[in-house]
Amino acid sequence: MNLKELDLEYVLPTYARNYVNFKSAKGARIIDDKGSEYIDFSAGIGVVSVGHSHERVSDAICKSAKNIIHISNLFCIEPQAKLAEKLVGMSGYDMKVFFANSGAEANEGAIKIARKYGEVDGEPKRYKIVTLKNSFHGRTISTLKATGQESMHNYFGPFPDGFVYADTIESVIEQLDSHTVAVMIELVQGEGGVEPLDKKSVQELALELKKRDILLIVDEVQTGIFRIGEMMASNYYEITPDIITVAKGLGGGVPIGAVMSGKKDVLKAGDHGSTFGGNYLVTSAALEVLTILDEHKSSGELDKTIVYFEDKLEALAKKFPKLIEKIVGIGFMKGFRIDGTENLTNLMNECFKEGVLVLKAGRNTLRFLPPLTITRDEIDEGFERVEKAFITLS
Ligand SMILES: *Cc1c(COP(=O)(O)O)cnc(C)c1O
Repeated sequence: MNLKELDLEYVLPTYARNYVNFKSAKGARIIDDKGSEYIDFSAGIGVVSVGHSHERVSDAICKSAKNIIHISNLFCIEPQAKLAEKLVGMSGYDMKVFFANSGAEANEGAIKIARKYGEVDGEPKRYKIVTLKNSFHGRTISTLKATGQESMHNYFGPFPDGFVYADTIESVIEQLDSHTVAVMIELVQGEGGVEPLDKKSVQELALELKKRDILLIVDEVQTGIFRIGEMMASNYYEITPDIITVAKGLGGGVPIGAVMSGKKDVLKAGDHGSTFGGNYLVTSAALEVLTILDEHKSSGELDKTIVYFEDKLEALAKKFPKLIEKIVGIGFMKGFRIDGTENLTNLMNECFKEGVLVLKAGRNTLRFLPPLTITRDEIDEGFERVEKAFITLS
């Protein structure tokens, strides 16, 4: 059996897959089994934050793999404690961290903290969590329900109760009642179409929630770890959430998620846990990823590369005004709003043929989530290929 046949025979068909067989990757370049090279403007899905097989991350992983891969959370774990310190320090928030293995799982942790926060004498007094209609919070049963998009609630019920949806950030306030314990939002909606929320509305909501003792949970699974140019989107929006979740870019490719909570005493021993969460291997990798990104930001290089990338996007948008309605997003979380779903599908295919990996978001957005350490050469080459794809369609 060739790879495609093998995959079709044995792997559950939950993904509409492209059957390219990638063999190696370095920085923002990936090579397939035929020797073709691709520029990666997707970084997994915003995962490979420091590029593919970054030497320092590979070394950290190898060192941990040869030393200790895993010891249970019943013992303290040195790289986990150091990673928590670094994550908290770099975010600037007064929080403590719980480590999970994915974004959805981090959000589950956030929901659990909120639900317990709403209990009085062990009874659920406040339990409702308000999220946005266009949100995406994950694929587990409760994070699917937290996800506001109707189309995500087609199967898999009954779902847990207590999730309420608001159409917009401005109308969240109308959904609050005496049973509300938390509001959970993405500051830039990723899967929803690279849609940034209005800064002032977010700040006003944050203030109002503080007054009412309702927790603000910011799902930074996609926006966090410098994706939009600052360590956290919450830094950029100048708010202080009660809980922040991160995952995608944190481990540079190893599976790791984290819940950061300013409510440090809600969960007690036994309330929450994870067999794998925050083990030696993944936290050693993530610690190196954060160190690299910290340097990349401090040197000014990240901000400069973002501007360089934005200039390329603008030049392209000017050239193809019929296809590109507008540029959306912040920092290295960007998109082109494309005129027509069919055009978007064709563009995706053409981009792949030209040798550049891009993503789709929502119904009509061509999404770019390049490695944060992408070089100017890689950006130049990637955009040459994207432009060829646009030329084919115009
Ligand atoms: C990707 C994503 C998730 C889910 O993360 P998984 O690691 O796939 O579970 C949750 N929230 C947001 C905002 C995301 O972008």
